Amino acid sequence: MENIKNTCFVCKKDISSETSSVNPVVNMPVCSGCKGSEQEKAEEKIVLDSLADGFVCGCI
Ligand SMILES: [Zn+2]
Repeated sequence: MENIKNTCFVCKKDISSETSSVNPVVNMPVCSGCKGSEQEKAEEKIVLDSLADGFVCGCI
């Protein structure tokens, strides 16, 4: 299983070997290539939607 902390949430690329940023909206890592892109915005929405859908954790 991939380590989510080392995977760009937009393109699912392994970013353990490069400098990544954390997207503050979804609190997930994003690679330099996806940061600030339209794709990032779209994925943000998808992640937030799925979080709202399966809201079982309640730890936020
Ligand atoms: Zn990426």
